[in-house]
Amino acid sequence: MNLHEYQGKSILKSFGVAIQEGKVVDKVEDAVKAAKELSAETGTEWYVVKAQIHAGGRGKGLVAETGSHGVVLAKGIDHVEEKVKGILGGHLETAQTNGVGKKVSKVLIAQDVYYPGESETSEFYMSVLLDREAGRNTIVYSTEGGMDIEHVAEHTPELIYKEIIDPRVGIQGFQARKIAFNLGLSGQAFKEMTKFVVNLYAAYEGCDASMFEINPVLKTSDNKIIAVDAKVTLDGNSLFRHPNYAAMRDKTEEDPTEVEAGEAGLNFVKLDGNVGCMVNGAGLAMATMDIIKLSGGNPANFLDVGGTADAERVAKAFNIILKDENVKAILINIFGGIVRCDRVAQGVVDAYKSIGEFPVPLIVRLQGTNAVEAKKLIDDSGLNVQSVVLLQEAADKVREVLS
Ligand code: GDP
Ligand code: MN
Repeated sequence: MNLHEYQGKSILKSFGVAIQEGKVVDKVEDAVKAAKELSAETGTEWYVVKAQIHAGGRGKGLVAETGSHGVVLAKGIDHVEEKVKGILGGHLETAQTNGVGKKVSKVLIAQDVYYPGESETSEFYMSVLLDREAGRNTIVYSTEGGMDIEHVAEHTPELIYKEIIDPRVGIQGFQARKIAFNLGLSGQAFKEMTKFVVNLYAAYEGCDASMFEINPVLKTSDNKIIAVDAKVTLDGNSLFRHPNYAAMRDKTEEDPTEVEAGEAGLNFVKLDGNVGCMVNGAGLAMATMDIIKLSGGNPANFLDVGGTADAERVAKAFNIILKDENVKAILINIFGGIVRCDRVAQGVVDAYKSIGEFPVPLIVRLQGTNAVEAKKLIDDSGLNVQSVVLLQEAADKVREVLS
């Protein structure tokens, strides 16, 4: 589950990580009041107005309606309202929004932290994530903060460092010091950075995150180290033990079909192919997607219906798959282990009838317990369903109906 910047920052703060402070508003009328409160708390006189959407690259992105950038500086209280108006309610397009602007329903009014002072400001990159190859949590960091990390990785990979953390012992003091050293820090900033890293790692572990990405981490001109941005992904499977984080979910940022599927207990991921699939078990679903690809099609989705493929669930799954106009055929591939194939077949037949006129060819492969009875049930149903036994036959049928 992805979080907004302001939510990620509130988690960081609760773990003792210093952040660029701010106030969230969803109405233009509230902006000036929020900015004044922020000034009272932080002493700031300039403000940064930041669109809250689930996508990065906001600073360079543009709001379609107004031409404003998604992150803008207001040099004084008199400019706050105008800057908020340029962003709030508009559609922000960034390099990460795939050509469709995302509606901005909230903005963060943040303190300006790039104020002049005794030393220069510096921007760093830092993220904590699970390195599956190493089987360890990893802190990735770089002196090249504030810009696209993919760009840094491509052009100057030597400027990206990795620190692997053994989860059994957690982050060690020497590791935090090594990071601060590699970032070229000394004195007060060095100390602040070691604290920042330790607390950031504690936040990552403590909220069962799969990623924390802070870009930029800022060294201010008075040598504080603070998180200016926060991109946080929490492990959805752990939310049951974090009701306060679960409540941060913003469904309007998610694919509506995926939300609907989730509510029906179906494991669904939308893809951009032309063959809908309905499968039980994640592994079989992956294999089915492969076979679709090998037979010249492209999976339109990943869908694991789980153990109970009864008529109601199958009908729900059909409805979800058929919402996608790209779908030219549907392949059902069910292995009957505990679930009996004939019951699934009955479910498919009932669900098929409940749809009315079924708009695309349907290929069904049921294998395992009572597969023979299941095939007979479908073949005798008189419906326009093609039943097959072997996976290869299923692939051939897919190829046939697509051509
Ligand atoms: P992103 O573009 O979505 O990654 O959003 P960020 O939160 O990283 O902000 C984008 C850029 O805005 C940062 O890299 C900074 O250069 C700039 N920025 C953020 N906060 C401030 C601030 O307090 N003052 C100034 N002057 N610039 C800021
Ligand atoms: Mn950023």
